[in-house]
Amino acid sequence: MQIVNKPDYSYIMPDRFFSDLRVFFLSKNLGISVDNSQKDYPSPPDMNIINKISSYFPVNPKHIIFMNQVHSDMVIIKADKRPSFPQADGIITQMKGLALAVKSADCLPIFLFDNKNKVISAIHSGWRGTALKIVKKALKKFEQEFNSNFSDIYVFIGPAINGSCYEIGKDVYQHFGFLGKKRADYFNRAKNNKFYMDLKGINAYILEQEGIPPENIEICDLCTHCESALFHSYRRDGVNAGRNISFIILA
Ligand SMILES: [Zn+2]
Repeated sequence: MQIVNKPDYSYIMPDRFFSDLRVFFLSKNLGISVDNSQKDYPSPPDMNIINKISSYFPVNPKHIIFMNQVHSDMVIIKADKRPSFPQADGIITQMKGLALAVKSADCLPIFLFDNKNKVISAIHSGWRGTALKIVKKALKKFEQEFNSNFSDIYVFIGPAINGSCYEIGKDVYQHFGFLGKKRADYFNRAKNNKFYMDLKGINAYILEQEGIPPENIEICDLCTHCESALFHSYRRDGVNAGRNISFIILA
């Protein structure tokens, strides 16, 4: 992925280019700050941020769809352009010009694109969503509702906390027995019965196990916890952390 620096903000975009697809991972100064939101961000970002984003990027402010993210494996399909704020952690659409957005501060923003059927999806996946294999649920919907072949699907995994910074306890580790022998590859042992967890790696692994070609998966290597000038981080900033915004849009 590549970083684009503007005077007032930055964004990350994929290396792979499709003429009808846009994917943007925005820096924290285009994110949700603590001052203008409540705890857990149960409402959509305020219009100041949305208008700012639409002045910099090719998107109508009325057509940015945020989810009320609850760390679930719920994936919904959006078949119209009406404003909404669905409770879900995954959303899929075929509507051109509709931006599907993810709010995150260490969790993974994951975007899927079926280049043949022109279907996009935005997914929010932290450790809970990863343990519930939300990416697999999204792929099932692509298959059932849009007849997708997984070889046509491209994946963009955005900035999130990296394995070197994401320390978790046994309680989290225990949810990942489904990885079998592979679990040791994604959990490095730390002191005091703790582990360092590679969220990006596990999600990529699940996608590959389902049949996404590894060469179709692009992963941003930036760590939200380390890159304090660029991103909000829950682990670094605590309960008052803001949220980074990313979105995918079919042109
Ligand atoms: Zn880090």
